[in-house]
Parts: sequence; structure tokens; C-alpha cells
Amino acid sequence: MKEQEFLQEIKEIELLNEALALLEWDSQTGMPEASSEFRGETVGYLSGISFERSVGPKIQEALTYFETHQDELSELGLSVYKKTKENYELNHSIPAERMQAYNIALTNAHAAWLKARKAKDFAEMKNEIQTLIAFLKEFIPYWKKDETTNYDVLLNQYEPGLTVEKLDEIFAQVKTGIMEIRATIAEKGTVPRTDFLSRRVTKEQQRTFVMGVAQQLGYDFTRGRLDDTVHPFMLDLNRNDARITTRWDETNFSMATFGVIHEAGHGIYEQSIDPKYDHTPLSTGASMGIHESQSLFNEIIIGSNKQFWEKQFPFFKECTAGAFDDIDFETFYDSLKETKASLVRIEADSLTYPLHIIIRYEIEKMIFNENVSIDELSQIWNDKYEEYLGIRPENDLEGIVQDVHWSGGSFGYFPSYALGYMYAAQLRHAMGKEIDVDTILASDDYSPIKNWLTEHIHQYGASRKPNQLILDATGEALNPQYLIDYMKSIYYDVYKINE
Ligand code: ZN
Repeated sequence: MKEQEFLQEIKEIELLNEALALLEWDSQTGMPEASSEFRGETVGYLSGISFERSVGPKIQEALTYFETHQDELSELGLSVYKKTKENYELNHSIPAERMQAYNIALTNAHAAWLKARKAKDFAEMKNEIQTLIAFLKEFIPYWKKDETTNYDVLLNQYEPGLTVEKLDEIFAQVKTGIMEIRATIAEKGTVPRTDFLSRRVTKEQQRTFVMGVAQQLGYDFTRGRLDDTVHPFMLDLNRNDARITTRWDETNFSMATFGVIHEAGHGIYEQSIDPKYDHTPLSTGASMGIHESQSLFNEIIIGSNKQFWEKQFPFFKECTAGAFDDIDFETFYDSLKETKASLVRIEADSLTYPLHIIIRYEIEKMIFNENVSIDELSQIWNDKYEEYLGIRPENDLEGIVQDVHWSGGSFGYFPSYALGYMYAAQLRHAMGKEIDVDTILASDDYSPIKNWLTEHIHQYGASRKPNQLILDATGEALNPQYLIDYMKSIYYDVYKINE
């Protein structure tokens, strides 16, 4: 077996996956609803082929041969070999027909989720979710290596090395930190004015503004595009085609504004991966948590920065045709950082957001480690919101049906969002030692920030592990304190608290 032959096989699998990604994008943006069963079959068929190839005789032969002939591999070949071996071990013991059945179940679950949203009732998707959970419980023993619990196995797939034991400790620290900030704000804070946030801004006006901002931040629209969807996401076919989506509300411009800034962060990451990783499994993000660190760097680090908004405010006023001419900058900025308990995760402010994640984490832990009944989930969800955020959903659309993740089989994924917050704050701290971030954000040229992130994170794609990337980029392991300190500085400023 020659390296070239191995890389050619890998490339052909990647080409199939690229076609699957395009089908996925289509089914979430423009596909007629009635087509979902047909699409499910197409996706099931193609993903079956992709899966068979990825565990097929050629790959097996390559893995066996290079196990003892690693000296014949180039540096790139060796990285691809290691990643392929990892993926193979993750998948090889699951029978292809079970994987194919799972993929069909995923398409059905997505359709059921859309129905449940319409009915505002979890019962509409309960059976499909139950099926997915059963599939995952069937797969966990195949995936399990040295993890302690079932849920650890799922966590590990999204963030290598992450455990319930570590997360319990980190989330306890984050929860305490956030609770303290919320208590101080409730006691001494001056609530910002926000009435003007609901002023009508047309979809076209919002598009002009937010596409301009995304471009300035480094998202390349010649290698991406922006479409409408129910639940916003970024999807990459390759580094020259990293697509983003959003949803719009003409009486709440900040939703799409921060949403697009967020997804653009994911897109910039994919667009900036070293071309040498093209057509290999390394041409993607290092992990879900690292991916979120890039989108959240845009959304909560840059998106909370006063200099950034001072610079953007005239452009915003220009795009909105005078609708905000009576609002001064300080009032405008403070309004964007109001914090208020909310029921919907993607509408949550950056301070309360991690609490939404902690709730999902605790429920997923119950599903996979404690075998909680599917019939109790809606009630448990509502109880936890009442306990942590002091508010209770009136229906499942405001509650357990709001997110796409579980119908996508992505159990173990949610904690990545919270990790993304912590990584982003830690990266901001490290970046500040080398470049003057505030001054750059007040200028016309944001490229030093994008370049720093490309140098330390983007370029490596999936060739390095998350903990190594963070250690190399910041000089220390994950430390949640940077996030708590950052939140304090932003929210105490907005709420006029002097300590
Ligand atoms: Zn994201």
C-alpha cells in the first residue's frame, strides 16, 4: 500500500460526504416538507456507501499496513492516518445496516421535530427521540474505550477527553460565578433602556448591516453564503464553501445580528484551515467546543466590545434609515447587553446562556446514566428552568422542543457551547498579551484578530486535539475563571456597578 493510494481512498470518501453535506443544507433550507421521506432514503443510501467505504477493505488494509510502516508516511499522511484510525475505531464495529437505519431514523426525527414545533408539543416527536436514544444506547458499547459512564462516551465524541467528573466541577464553578453576578446586578444594577430594540428593521436592512459586519470580521462571501432556516447553523462542504444560515425577526434585529456574527465565526474557521488538509478528515474543526469558541469569540467577545459597537453604530444607523437617530451610543450599547432570564436558549443573553447549557447537560446525564423515562422529560425540563432561571415554559415550544440537537441525535453536544464560552474568554485573554484588541476593534481593519485566531487555532483544522490547541494558544489548560471575570467586566459596566 502506497500513501498515495490511501489518500485517494480518503479523498473519495470525503467527496461522498461533501455531497451529503449539500443534501443536508438543502433539507434545512429549501426542500419541500413533503419530500422528507424520499430525502431520507437518498441520504440513507449515500451515507451507507460512505460508511461502508470508511470501514471497507481498502481502509482496513491501509490501517493494517501503516500500523507497522509509519516511516513510509509523510507528515501529512501520518496525521491523516491517525485521524482515520480514530474514526475507524469509533465506527468499525457498528454494522453498516444499523448505521443506515440510524440515518433514516435521524431524518424521521427531524421531520417529527418540525411537527412538534408546530404543535408546541413534545408528544409529537417522543417516539422518534426514543428511537434515537435506543440507537445510541445500542452504539455506546461499540464506542466505549476507557470511559467511566455511558454519557462520558458521548461527551468524548464531541470533545475528546471530556468527562462527567470534569464537567461537574467546571459547571459548578461557572454556575456559582454567574449566580453571584446575577445577584449583584439584581441588587445594585441600573437596568438599561431597551424599548427601542423592537423598532422595525426590515429583513433587507438587517441583511445589509450584518453581512457588512460579517465581511469585516473576515467571513468571505465569495466562499460562503447566507440563507434562511428555522434553526441557524453553519455547514461546510469545503474551505471554499462554508455556508451560514439565520432566521429573521423584523421587530428584533439583534437576534439575526448576533446570530449571523456567531455563524460567521464558524464559517471563518472552516475557510481558514490550511489547504494542505483538503479532502482529508483534518479539514474541519478540532472539536465542537473549539468550533464554538470561534463563533462565540465573534458573538460574545467582539459582540460585547464597546469599541467595536462604537465603530459599527454609524453604519448601523445608515443601514436602518434613521430609525435610531434619537438614540445615543451609550444607550444603544447598554441595550445590547441587557441580561434577563429567558426560556429560549438561542435568545438568551451571554450571562444566562451557560445556565441553559447546564440544564441540558443534567438532563442528558439523566437519560444516558440514569435511564430516566422519556415521558418525564418535559416536566423535568420545566422544573429545572423554574429552579435555575426563575421562569417556567407554558408549552413545549418554549421548552423541550426548542432545539434541533436531540432530533439530530446530538446528545453530548450541548456542553460544547459552554466550553466554547470558556475557551473564547481564555483566548481573548491570551490574545490581549500580543495585540491591542480594543484599539483594533475601534479601527477599520480587524484582520489582526482574525490572523491571530488563524495562526493559533484555524490553520490546524482537526490535526491537533482541543486541549493541546488551548494549551499552545494560551499557555494553560482550560480555566473557567476568565469567562467569569469577563462577564463581570462587561455586565458591571453596563449595569453601572462600581465595586
Ligand atoms: Zn455555534
